[in-house]
Amino acid sequence: MELELESILLPGVEDKRPMIIAGPCSAETEEQVMSTAKQLSEKGIKMFRAGIWKPRTKPGGFEGVGVDGLPWLKEVKKETGMYISTEVATAKHVYEALKAGIDFLWVGARTTANPFAVQEIADALKGVDIPVLVKNPVNPDLELWIGALERINNAGIKRLGVIHRGFSSYDKKIYRNLPQWHIPIELRRRIPNLPIICDPSHIGGKRELIAPLSQQAMDLGFNGLIIESHCNPDCAWSDAEQQVTPDVLDYILNLLVIRKETQTTESLSQLRKQIDECDNNIIQELSKRMRIAREIGTFKKEHDMTILQTGRYNEILEKRGSQGALCGMDSEFIKKVFEAIHEESVRQQMEIINK
Ligand code: PEP
Ligand code: MN
Repeated sequence: MELELESILLPGVEDKRPMIIAGPCSAETEEQVMSTAKQLSEKGIKMFRAGIWKPRTKPGGFEGVGVDGLPWLKEVKKETGMYISTEVATAKHVYEALKAGIDFLWVGARTTANPFAVQEIADALKGVDIPVLVKNPVNPDLELWIGALERINNAGIKRLGVIHRGFSSYDKKIYRNLPQWHIPIELRRRIPNLPIICDPSHIGGKRELIAPLSQQAMDLGFNGLIIESHCNPDCAWSDAEQQVTPDVLDYILNLLVIRKETQTTESLSQLRKQIDECDNNIIQELSKRMRIAREIGTFKKEHDMTILQTGRYNEILEKRGSQGALCGMDSEFIKKVFEAIHEESVRQQMEIINK
């Protein structure tokens, strides 16, 4: 299905990359909301965010101030002229937010993962014309993300954009939510004129990662950034570790290098040709490797051996990891590559054995 899209740009907001949305994870008190908003506005921020209904992983956490926070957001709009936004997860949230004059909405990651909830929101938005930003679902499922966009678009919302906030995984390492950049990149390929806004706060989960993730998003040509900012981040009632003061936000934004999107100079196309050639060689070599793996499969079948020989598998991963490191790559990255290659070898050997 083709989406029918219109620009999400709001009047008076400059049409340049990156479009910036900033504000606290949660509205906590009127003072916190107003103080943060005024400082952000002084830094030139035009679009304000604050969650008032907060989906928390476990009960007992701070679940947001609810409708009591809406008048504070209205006050932000009145005092600073910023556009105001909040997260909606139910039809009731939509009605309350619209009644309070919220300028644009976002759908949270947990909600996008649930088609019933998305449909309910879409139905509540019928006849409304405001920008809606759809966060990626918590699980790395591009079709589910696109499905949510289609539901909301079918309800008549044309001013649509997405927020890339990373994907949750069981083993958290550096990131709170893995960026899996290839997913928003594929989304861009599928729906080229859909604005993509990166949420480095929720991807990184740590202040230090906001700047590098924002730069990566800009280098990938994403349109905007949504960054959590709080007047006193250490004391925030939710997501304290990933929020920055408006001052720090301003510092981060000023350091960003915004490169032009199309730089197809001669030297760049030369380099791209070389990349094409490298990829070609990788595919040739992989296909050779798979041929050999199938031969091994035949051998194992004839000798009644199991396909998976754990010792050999671990040996490959360790050896390739350190070889990769010697060649200037991250050994964890090389291990991941070989895990994927090994998985495909096993699949091919299974075919042989089951023939
Ligand atoms: C948020 O934006 O504060 C939030 C709850 O985000 P997510 O839905 O990405 O977890
Ligand atoms: Mn948050």
